[in-house]
Amino acid sequence: MKIYADNAATTKMSRAAIEAMIPCLEEDYGNPSSLYSLGQRAKEILERARAGVAAVMSADPGEIVFTSGGSEADNQAILSAAEAGRKAGKAHIVSTAFEHHAVLHTLKKLEREGFAVTLLDVHEDGLVRPEELEAAIRADTCLVTVMYANNEIGTIQPIGEIGAICKRRGVLFHTDAVQAVGHLPIDVRSENIDLLSASAHKFHGPKGVGFLYARRGVRLASLIEGGAQERGKRAGTENVAAAVGMAAALKESAARMKENAARMSALRDRLIAGLSEIPHSALNGNAVKRLPGNVSFCFEGIEGESLLLLLDDRGISASSGSACTSGSLDPSHVLLAIGRVHDVAHGSLRLTIGEDTTEEEVDYMIRNVKEVVERLRGFSPVWRDLVNGKGRFIL
Ligand SMILES: *Cc1c(COP(=O)(O)O)cnc(C)c1O
Repeated sequence: MKIYADNAATTKMSRAAIEAMIPCLEEDYGNPSSLYSLGQRAKEILERARAGVAAVMSADPGEIVFTSGGSEADNQAILSAAEAGRKAGKAHIVSTAFEHHAVLHTLKKLEREGFAVTLLDVHEDGLVRPEELEAAIRADTCLVTVMYANNEIGTIQPIGEIGAICKRRGVLFHTDAVQAVGHLPIDVRSENIDLLSASAHKFHGPKGVGFLYARRGVRLASLIEGGAQERGKRAGTENVAAAVGMAAALKESAARMKENAARMSALRDRLIAGLSEIPHSALNGNAVKRLPGNVSFCFEGIEGESLLLLLDDRGISASSGSACTSGSLDPSHVLLAIGRVHDVAHGSLRLTIGEDTTEEEVDYMIRNVKEVVERLRGFSPVWRDLVNGKGRFIL
């Protein structure tokens, strides 16, 4: 059996997205900045894609800038807010300890330039406490950036509450919604979101394209200088086909969101229940306030990397922590942020199911993860010490 259970890393493109892109590549290949009809047609197609994306978020088309993906949107949102803050004499930013590296590394860069950054605790359940967030806001705070849903442990933040606080306190609010767009209902107006990042390949669109929503009136700085594309906010000839593929994928995801979420949550909970039977294991993050497809566990006494290799042998594509940190010896900053100690964080497994995942596949994963964990523990000196009472079980 071949099972793709790494949908948080990327998703398979939907048929609708592929089919929407083909005419853009074959016939409507004009440059949207050209004045002749072939170019103007490409421009029309691009603007239709923009309107489609905006509609799903309750945004206006003029509030959407197409980017090369989630990382670029995160960088642009944060650097724009920082630049505006600096001009107003405000150089403090509030975020969380478990953001994606596209956010954390941008904040690090700003710290080197003199900004102060407060990273909020996300507690053992992987959730930000709105009252702690409000208490962290200072007179010189120019931005709050909190991810909508975490990519490793799937926890969904109280975005509406955070948005309301930021609005009341007059601070810009950005959310990295890369894991949420196409999977959770989002309304930028009612949730008081000023800036939002998204990436197409996380909701069955193509890789290398995403968008940044910026509420009307929020000034964006451009990261790439050049032509006046994207209203001067993002230079470079637009990737029309990719934008169209993204819009088609998002439209389909939005139309099926409710039924997909119900089905996937049920399968997720079945998978969680099955893996919970493994002794000395623990689910990472709140069990209820989590993405419909996310299952994240720590197993004591094993290495996540070996677990992944053995699961791959059995046809299961899974992940241990985020794709960016796997391969390095540092345990995931997300797992450390929820209080997992190094040894436990090393034994992590993330299975992210998709819309096509079946009950049969879930049962296959449960059976195989159980077997592989047991096998690895059989070889593990750490596990032997724990069992012999030379170490202390944490989970
Ligand atoms: C995948 C991801 C990103 C990066 O998006 P890219 O389009 O791959 O650059 C940013 N934030 C989160 C939460 C993600 O899951």
